[in-house]
Amino acid sequence: MADKVNTLPFFYGNITREEAEEYLRQGGMSDGLYLLRQSRNYLGGYALSVAHNRQCYHYTIERELNDTYAIAGGKSHRNPADLIEYHSQESDGLVCLLKKALSRPRGVEPKVGPFEDLKEQLIREYVKQTWNLQGAALEQAIISQRPQLEKLIATTAHEKMPWFHGKISREESEPRLLNSNRTNGKFLIRERDEKGSYALCLLHGGHVMHYRIDKDKAGKLSIPDGKKFDTLWQLVEHYSYKPDGLLRVLKEPCPRPNGADGVSFSRPPLPRRGATGGILSRLSSNSFPKPGSKKLPFFTSRHKTTDNLNPYETRVGNTVSKEAMPMDTEVYESPYADPDELRTSTVDRSQLFLEDGELGSGNFGTVLKGIYKMRKTEKQVAVKILKNDDNNAAVREEMLREANVMQQLDNPYIVRMIGICEAENLMLVMELADLGPLNKFLQKNKQISMKNITELVHQVSMGMKYLEEHNFVHRDLAARNVLLVTQHYAKISDFGLSKALTEEENYYKAKGHGKWPVKWYAPECMNFFKFSCKSDVWSFGVLMWEAYSLGQKPYKGMKGNEVIQMIESGERMGAPPNCPPEMYELMKTCWTYKPDERPGFSVVEPRLRDYYYDISQ
Ligand code: AMP
Repeated sequence: MADKVNTLPFFYGNITREEAEEYLRQGGMSDGLYLLRQSRNYLGGYALSVAHNRQCYHYTIERELNDTYAIAGGKSHRNPADLIEYHSQESDGLVCLLKKALSRPRGVEPKVGPFEDLKEQLIREYVKQTWNLQGAALEQAIISQRPQLEKLIATTAHEKMPWFHGKISREESEPRLLNSNRTNGKFLIRERDEKGSYALCLLHGGHVMHYRIDKDKAGKLSIPDGKKFDTLWQLVEHYSYKPDGLLRVLKEPCPRPNGADGVSFSRPPLPRRGATGGILSRLSSNSFPKPGSKKLPFFTSRHKTTDNLNPYETRVGNTVSKEAMPMDTEVYESPYADPDELRTSTVDRSQLFLEDGELGSGNFGTVLKGIYKMRKTEKQVAVKILKNDDNNAAVREEMLREANVMQQLDNPYIVRMIGICEAENLMLVMELADLGPLNKFLQKNKQISMKNITELVHQVSMGMKYLEEHNFVHRDLAARNVLLVTQHYAKISDFGLSKALTEEENYYKAKGHGKWPVKWYAPECMNFFKFSCKSDVWSFGVLMWEAYSLGQKPYKGMKGNEVIQMIESGERMGAPPNCPPEMYELMKTCWTYKPDERPGFSVVEPRLRDYYYDISQ
């Protein structure tokens, strides 16, 4: 959404109320002249500035919980543009109808707020420090979880600021402000209690003034009788340009002394990109604490006592559960990412402990859960066990071929092979994806949100993009072969039919027909036995259809040859009920008849990504 607002000619970005008034004055102040700007106190919110009777009026447009937008107490709209359109017909509480949009002067771009400017660095630093990731693993984490990370950063960024001193008493705060230069306007923020209240301590005329910052039931922060804010950094930014009831504006952050509050100061200050000024621009060098760690009240006790949950937490009954991001799980990085674990393709049977109860079964035999003891850690694993009964060499070969493909792949959105174990049976030891196949999960969890489905489908496209980049064709991509680690983490599995492509040829030619999943196959697979990353894209379209129809079978009730006829005649499956139109369009693009005209995953993944970010703003 935010990206679309950015393109509106009358959107000015992160300008102050005063700047908005100046623009309206320059624009002539005709009745109903208006502009839109970013809210400086509500995350994801906007402000509408309107001229009427030579005066300026400002309305906050809040983003509501279900991602709609409304002026407090007013009608909800899908986006700020719809809201403006509505108020050009109905004043409905506004001082007048919105008559004329004031476009930005030539050459003026929407102003980027100081936080926006810092966000990229903060996200990167946060992921690096919190999950100790680097390189491709870091990039993939940011791509797949950006909306969640942005929200986390917005609500925890103050911990990075030099003016945030953590939990210290009023008595401890005063010498910090008084000890060296006593510049009026020097300030710090301290934490008062676990309920999320803070204090702003401000130096004025040689004395320290303490202003309480309370958190209301909705989680908004304010100095008594003052403006409300979603985050501490917005509050600081506001009072640093306007006293608004304080004795003076905030001028100079009082830096936190080294080592205070057990906060580590291990890193040099982050370099800054560009200069937008403002107090936010000066970062402190403390590390981000890890979510869930004892050092971080933000993610633990505080949220258990208020209703203001961290954006990635949910309340189930009385308990708050943190929805693990992929990076929180032990299968995000390869078990061999740790250099102390020796990479090996064979697993020692004495270190492998199988449990009773099947995870599932397939062509080869059964899949059991187990524990694999590595040098430093124990891993929960899934073990595919070849049935011995008929001693079939071909099946054994097939399983070894699957292992060979899997061994060459290393991506967070693909089930990794840990090793092969030759013992009482031939066993393929893999990462465990405990929640099982996507289609079955969706059939059982029909209340799942479109956003959640899109998150998972996007992760599958990331895994497929990796396969495409490494010249592998999957040949059995379907919802049944996507396994879930958590409700927010999907991995592609089942490489039984997969092939590595050669440099020279970008497709694999099958010798003849096999036991094929026809409903997932592109026309060129059926007609010419040709398999490429583009035919995987076709299957991905079917997988999307399965996902958005909550695990329904595609082409229900139809036989394979009827499906082939339907495709050849140019007909395609209809949109699943409630499927977002953007996603149905993408499915149909995946079902482009000619492989040369069909997009690759390098195109499909960013399209899904854009849509996912858009609905997650
Ligand atoms: P497959 O033979 O690969 O089709 O696997 C058969 C079934 O075993 C799947 O549908 C899953 O229910 C289960 N399974 C396979 N691999 C795993 C895994 N890595 N983690 C959890 N369950 C698995």
